[in-house]
Amino acid sequence: MTMLEIIEKKKLGRVLTGEEIRFFARAAAEKTVPDYQLAAMLMAIRLQGMTDEETTELTLAMRDSGDVADLSSIPGIKVDKHSTGGVGDTTTLVLAPLVAACGVPVAKMSGRGLGHTGGTLDKLESIPGLRVGLTEEEFLCQVREIGVAVVGQTGHLAPADKVLYALRDVTSTVDSIPLIVSSILSKKLAAGSDAIVLDVKTGSGAIMRDLASSIALAENLVRVATMAGKPTVALISGMDQPLGTHVGNALEVKEAIDILSGKTGGDLKEVSLTLGGHMLLLAGKAKTHAEAVRMLEEALESGAGLRTFARMIAAQGGDARVCDDPSLLPQAPVQKQIFCGGSGYVRKMDTAALGMAAQGMGAGRLRAEDAIDYSVGFVLQVRIGDRVAPDTPLCVLHARTEADAEAAETAIRRAISVGGEPCKRVPNFLALVTKDGITSMG
Ligand code: URA
Ligand code: CA
Repeated sequence: MTMLEIIEKKKLGRVLTGEEIRFFARAAAEKTVPDYQLAAMLMAIRLQGMTDEETTELTLAMRDSGDVADLSSIPGIKVDKHSTGGVGDTTTLVLAPLVAACGVPVAKMSGRGLGHTGGTLDKLESIPGLRVGLTEEEFLCQVREIGVAVVGQTGHLAPADKVLYALRDVTSTVDSIPLIVSSILSKKLAAGSDAIVLDVKTGSGAIMRDLASSIALAENLVRVATMAGKPTVALISGMDQPLGTHVGNALEVKEAIDILSGKTGGDLKEVSLTLGGHMLLLAGKAKTHAEAVRMLEEALESGAGLRTFARMIAAQGGDARVCDDPSLLPQAPVQKQIFCGGSGYVRKMDTAALGMAAQGMGAGRLRAEDAIDYSVGFVLQVRIGDRVAPDTPLCVLHARTEADAEAAETAIRRAISVGGEPCKRVPNFLALVTKDGITSMG
């Protein structure tokens, strides 16, 4: 078997065998064939597609290209959550401690931000002293004792994905459903949980911008995860505007703390409770989703969720006093209130552009090696559908310099469209996809 024969077969639209797919995944992980052949294979898959059986074989082969975490020393059903990425999307920091406080262990490996999307690890590292680089033993021990840990990858997970993802980025092959599904699920399966809740974003800040392709991706993810033996559900959620009001690392931690301490609500809280409810359901802790959400609300109201978050922060070396006093988080030197300046209704937001505005202030990276400033970003004070006047607060900027604040103001104004016609608020969730089918939620 040669790589050339496998490329030829996929180019003609034929179905590959498990053996051929494993050859390709191994060749990627071990770099035993040149990048141009891997790239040609990626384009053949992008253009010809894959059957569910092929995608499942590819997912399993990519999972097996590296370590597979063994969480069996943690008692109970471990449920993971994955979001396809967005702006102001801090659900992990809200739901992980709440789900853990309800008795479901959360052993979570998260990622860093790139481009317009934020990353949970960067947000957590804005807490003074906090470490995300635990050893496997520290990680397992912390989940056994506290019920939750959120860390960077321990071990060498799905190295085939690292190679293929880097090539996809530069060969216009990111937008392929079988390649997205195998990329996401190979890492989730290697992370070792028993069941998975997927949050598939749709809209202006999402990997899939229209609803039909978001649903196709969600259905494919659920079918392949189920074939790989992991009970999985996917929710389709809107990314037509940032999910939370706070965008920027320390600012997003502050919003999570404000929610966990009952000081604030809003869409981030609602989405976190809905996703967390599906985690409790998959773990068998509740009979209905409504009952699961009630359990999470009780953990929030009793303060158990915030106490669990504080214990997690302390266990990872961070200053847990931020839970009582978020002003201990890094603060930007320039803070500036911006007003709407015009009248009408907030009709549209370019979410990716808003994420790039925060990135431009120093909150995110363009390249993986860039440094970030934890303190900067902005707090949006309007949502789609709001009626505004010239003196309505639009946002508060948190910037390093006056010049950065001015550049961000221009970018944010350009990204938010205000018009004369009233417009509907957008729903947080559009659909639920399970192995039994789709339920509309919009
Ligand atoms: N996230 C991933 O990890 N992989 C993809 O292909 C897309 C989103
Ligand atoms: Ca291991």
